[in-house]
Amino acid sequence: MIVKREKLSFWERLYLPALFGGFKVTWRHFANTVFKGKSVTLQYPEQKWSVPPAYRGAPYLVRDQEGNTKCVSCQLCEFVCPPKAIRILPPGPNGPPADRPNAEKIPLEFEINMLRCIFCGFCQEVCPEEAIFLMKDYSLTSQSREEMIYKKEKLLALGGTHAGVQKWKGILEEAKLQEEFALGQSGSSHQP
Ligand code: SF4
Ligand code: SF4
Repeated sequence: MIVKREKLSFWERLYLPALFGGFKVTWRHFANTVFKGKSVTLQYPEQKWSVPPAYRGAPYLVRDQEGNTKCVSCQLCEFVCPPKAIRILPPGPNGPPADRPNAEKIPLEFEINMLRCIFCGFCQEVCPEEAIFLMKDYSLTSQSREEMIYKKEKLLALGGTHAGVQKWKGILEEAKLQEEFALGQSGSSHQP
């Protein structure tokens, strides 16, 4: 496909109107800061940016409200992660058992390389256990590349405990309600 280049008008070729337009914005911000005390910049890192509620930052592992590891080492997140930032080592046949009922296993090792992570959220989307969440952290720093590889313990500590993330508990309760509703419906249909 050939894109036709638009011809510039006389004023556009002068560039001066565009320059003055830019200066106008700069002057407006300068005047607001100096004369009205309304700064448009933040004194980072002393002042932190307050992120919007839907912001997706660094992914961390979470525990359920009883403090158990939610991750069951299914490796779906590792599979979908576009930059291959996740590395999981499953426990194997003799590995440690899961620390909660209704779970077969927990990962022996779980790492996220934060230098590779692009905060896309695929891991959160795909996780069947709601065990990994993108949090609000956007500024991750370290002294070395190794420190940017977050291990399981660190990810769990940063993710913390999330109330109301026992997905299967909620789904089981919902299914029970639906069963009761169906029974009630069939009972009422036999009414004369
Ligand atoms: S947010 Fe995206 S890039 Fe980061 S670990 Fe999850 S899937 Fe990988
Ligand atoms: S975080 Fe979720 S998707 Fe990833 S291994 Fe654990 S349970 Fe599976």
